[in-house]
Amino acid sequence: MTTATGFNAIVGQQHPIRLLKTFIRNGTLPHALLFTGDDGVGKKMTATAFAMACNCLTLKSALRHSPHLDVIDACGDCTPCRKIAGNYHPDIIRVAPLSSVIKIAQIRTLLQILTLKPNETDRRVVILSEAQTMNSEAGNALLKALEEPPDRTLLVLTARQTSDLLPTVVSRCRHIRFFPLRAEDIKRLLTAAGGIEPESVETVASLCGGSYTRARTLIDSRWLSRRDWIIRAMGSHTANNGKPEIRTWLALSEMLVKKKDLIEESLEIITMWLRDMLVVRCDPQHVLNQDRLETLSAAAKHVSQAQLLEQINAVDHALTALRSNTNVRLTLDAMVLRMAGAYGLGNN
Ligand SMILES: [Zn+2]
Repeated sequence: MTTATGFNAIVGQQHPIRLLKTFIRNGTLPHALLFTGDDGVGKKMTATAFAMACNCLTLKSALRHSPHLDVIDACGDCTPCRKIAGNYHPDIIRVAPLSSVIKIAQIRTLLQILTLKPNETDRRVVILSEAQTMNSEAGNALLKALEEPPDRTLLVLTARQTSDLLPTVVSRCRHIRFFPLRAEDIKRLLTAAGGIEPESVETVASLCGGSYTRARTLIDSRWLSRRDWIIRAMGSHTANNGKPEIRTWLALSEMLVKKKDLIEESLEIITMWLRDMLVVRCDPQHVLNQDRLETLSAAAKHVSQAQLLEQINAVDHALTALRSNTNVRLTLDAMVLRMAGAYGLGNN
């Protein structure tokens, strides 16, 4: 999220950080921690900050005087801090998916390393990120380290949610939940990163679901300009007093097909837009496309709740079909024809 790596640099995760600081101050560090939460909310960054705080020489001497929680943080300047921040500390071991999977071989290698004593630290830290990508074989192998924790070693696992992991893994870890970031926090991070139009910052902050990673992806992938043309294309269907024009619906299908690798994302944009048309009637504050509130309100007048729900179902059905490798053009044509047909449901 930023170049700094102490607890102080982490935005919007006060509760998890307070817990970790309490463990450090009281000397009650669990041997295994599990951080859960969406991608891009600061789990890995917090794990690094935690590894630094566990090994910082300055903090180690300050802890003799039971400092206030607010001041418990790595100094960022001593040798262990610099090695950890620079990612070359021999006792901070990182395990991450290779080609989307954490393989059994990676866990076996880790277990071998853990049979040796730490090189130069009191607290070796293993940061195993995206633990949900371990298959059950890898997860079962990891259990050995969780059941018989190696000397002077802390394990930090990160994952989206506990239900993605083996219950035996979850039950052996101290679970700490990370929540989505507030839109205000996302705005602060994007503004600090620089080079982004203020209008884009506002829009992306309300669309990213509290994930900074997602916010960056939306900006870097020109997602906003794609969303805008899809909104324009969707709007043209209601120009004829709300009556469907099959020709314009099929034109939408044709445009979507042109960017084959982005179809899934485009369909998610359509679903989000339809969802907002439902929400804008009763709860405009919770509309995701906040910057298009006027367009949404105007468009929502021409379409009923039943019609919108049918259209959302049509998109959802197409998404499922595309994931099973059906013919793309046929699937999208069927989707838009079903969406056009939704107007036949009556306008109440
Ligand atoms: Zn330090």
